[in-house]
Amino acid sequence: MRQTHLFTKTRREAPADEVSKNAQLLIRAGYVHKEMAGAYDYLPLGMRVIEKIKGVIREEMNAIGGQELSLTALQDPEIWKATDRWDDEKVDVWFKTKLKNDTELGLGCTHEEPMARMMRDHVNSYRDLPKYTYQFQTKFRNELRAKSGIMRGREFMMKDMYSFNRTEEELDAFYEKAIQAYKNVYDRAGIGDKTFVTFASGGMFSQFSHEFQTVCDAGEDIIYIDDSQNIAVNEEVMKDDILEGLGVKRETLREAKSIEVGNIFKYGTRYTKELGVTFKDEDGIDKPAVFGAYGIGIGRLMGTIVELLSDDKGIVWPASVAPYGIHLLSLVANDEVVVAYADSLYEELTAVGVEVLYDDRDARAGEKLADSDLIGIPTRILVGKDTISSGLVEVVDRATGEVKKVTRTELLSHMGSVST
Ligand code: ATP
Ligand code: MG
Repeated sequence: MRQTHLFTKTRREAPADEVSKNAQLLIRAGYVHKEMAGAYDYLPLGMRVIEKIKGVIREEMNAIGGQELSLTALQDPEIWKATDRWDDEKVDVWFKTKLKNDTELGLGCTHEEPMARMMRDHVNSYRDLPKYTYQFQTKFRNELRAKSGIMRGREFMMKDMYSFNRTEEELDAFYEKAIQAYKNVYDRAGIGDKTFVTFASGGMFSQFSHEFQTVCDAGEDIIYIDDSQNIAVNEEVMKDDILEGLGVKRETLREAKSIEVGNIFKYGTRYTKELGVTFKDEDGIDKPAVFGAYGIGIGRLMGTIVELLSDDKGIVWPASVAPYGIHLLSLVANDEVVVAYADSLYEELTAVGVEVLYDDRDARAGEKLADSDLIGIPTRILVGKDTISSGLVEVVDRATGEVKKVTRTELLSHMGSVST
């Protein structure tokens, strides 16, 4: 992508009403646009990051047997009444609307109900189970406060997976796999070292649900970390008998602010019973499927990465989710030889499959370097006057600032092998 083609502009200042670091940086670098509090637009660079994050998650969900689908955001009140979740007293984040004939509709805040009802049409026998479905889907929640930038939206994208099992044991085994898959996601997204499996209250069926909480001062949550076991508990679980059961000592827990980047639940037959997702078991008896749900907020994960992986100059994307692998800068806009060199390098890198953002703008070197720091692509390649005289390009690591000088041949053979 040539930057002269990209319509987004970087800016020195974020909007005055934007208080969160993630949104400030993402707006300044041209990844997102703020529509209003709790509602953000994703611009071309932002879309690329979202797609990279989805790609990582998709691989991990497919690896544990997930099948991707997409349910509508429009919600039929009937199924939510059947599970007693239509009432605003029960679920306080509903956005509700009406058809022309006054029939009520909801905008989905989560998808247990429609997912269960849809599966009812496809599950008959024990042979049809287990099944695991997931989607990347827009959720709407009328959140009271929306001060955490893209980490708490009133519209946001969630990856939500649902498990349908025959027995509790089968659910338990899948749940452990899901925990591992989630850990893989956060590791690959560059925040694994700060993300803790956190015991949270589980509702009626299981003692615990699990949150994935990333330690960060911008977080809205508080967790208590047991470093020896590499786990944490949330406030709901801070009771002496429960801590004892977990083999955790209150005195050794470390308190930290954190961001809930994921949340997984065992429901048992809640939802499947009410919505009639039953299967005929080997003994000929009809049984409700054993249900679980597994969520990750995509925007929240992106915002968390920015909160943690950024410095005073801008964002520092991990390669796994960066919008481009390389930021190529031609440093002397009015020098035809430099421009021709950078142009041809851009063509060659692109031809071997490297994803390159190419700063071909007619701008000063200082401005290009500052923008490149802000945008945060992991590897920067500089083409200047001395590239022409020495035959060497500078390769700069955004995270460490480390500079290497390499020949064009070395660069291309290295990049070619990286991209394939
Ligand atoms: P929170 O406690 O932060 O309000 P939640 O427990 O209501 O979140 P879940 O219903 O468990 O959230 O949703 C699954 C995941 O979706 C969360 O772990 C989080 O990563 C993400 N998420 C939830 N609410 C939002 C939101 N308003 N904006 C962005 N992501 C969200
Ligand atoms: Mg939660």
